[in-house]
Amino acid sequence: MKQGSDSEWTHATVIRSCPLCGGLRRTTLSRRMQHHLDLTTVVCNSCSFVYTNPMPTPEVYGRFYLEAYAHFYRQLAAAPPRGDNIPESSYAKTIFENIEKVRPLDGARLLEVGPGNGNFLWWAMKRGLTVLGVEPSTEFCATLSEAGLPMRSGTLESLQDIPPASYDILAMFHVLEHFYDPNTALERCWELLAPGGIIVIAVPNILKPYRSLDRYFLRYVHPSSFSPATLNMILERNKFDVVLCETGGSDWRVPQSLFYIARRAESGVIAQVLPNPADTKRVLLACNRYRREWMLYGAARYFLRERFWAAVRFSLRILRPVKRRLISWVKFARGIAAPRVRQAIDLHLAPNICTKRNAPNSGYLSIIFQPLGEMRQVLKVGFSGAVCQNGH
Ligand SMILES: [Zn+2]
Repeated sequence: MKQGSDSEWTHATVIRSCPLCGGLRRTTLSRRMQHHLDLTTVVCNSCSFVYTNPMPTPEVYGRFYLEAYAHFYRQLAAAPPRGDNIPESSYAKTIFENIEKVRPLDGARLLEVGPGNGNFLWWAMKRGLTVLGVEPSTEFCATLSEAGLPMRSGTLESLQDIPPASYDILAMFHVLEHFYDPNTALERCWELLAPGGIIVIAVPNILKPYRSLDRYFLRYVHPSSFSPATLNMILERNKFDVVLCETGGSDWRVPQSLFYIARRAESGVIAQVLPNPADTKRVLLACNRYRREWMLYGAARYFLRERFWAAVRFSLRILRPVKRRLISWVKFARGIAAPRVRQAIDLHLAPNICTKRNAPNSGYLSIIFQPLGEMRQVLKVGFSGAVCQNGH
């Protein structure tokens, strides 16, 4: 059950500088989000990073997850695979194949932040990796623990007892965009990874937003939206070297996502984010073009789905008098034509069939025409006989 009103969640008081480059100049991209929540999303004029601004306070944002998240996203559920003879999911298999391009899986220690339904973590455990899941939702955490997955309830920041450099692979699928401050989260990820460790990330792509940008893609729980350029920059800024990136969204269940693997860099130098106004223009153009396309598609879909049957009923109502007139014409035509057709059959068709009555003549036509022809033959013979009797 949702606690509090929408205005409580959207009471935004924290005006932020760009979380990626620190820039203050920005362009408004949208003033509305999914679920009709009125929060503004902006694009940084300097580095093209897309973020919510202003933001609710961290305290309100944290409370949203505890009190309202289940109401807004009630369709989500933790449901790891159960049973021993289930084939590995193609989703998990694709991710493992990508990781193996970068480093071997054997003996790796894997930490997954926000395992969601637990699918990937479960298959990682089945492959023999040492795994741990970190999940802020106590309900999800309990469900995954019951399925036998090693879980910790909390966030990356709150679980300070996990020792640094204790994992080789850190996975975050559709999680980075949820953090209030993605830099703090990535700093903690860097700390938890052992030297040479990798971070595996999937996030939605702002350049290819699926469904409506304003009413679906932009979300209260996504204060950051990444493009390939800004995901690259934020990883470099937090001391990661990108070693693999896929921007096509090959998995249809996660449409148009960015999939990145980055290695923990040992230099310890935070990379500088250089201004690139061309990218800002690219993001705005892509989003506005997509918005127009979606509006046209939405209008067509609305017409087809909502108005189609109304249009059919309307057409039938118009066609009803035409239909009555057509029926009367058909009846009239049948009234004139039927006797003439019957006459023509009697005169031409039936005799021809009957003269061939010794030939194989099967089917229901013979039942109709053969007696008629025979009757005609009898009449003909009788007439001839009468002539003979009269002496001709
Ligand atoms: Zn920026």
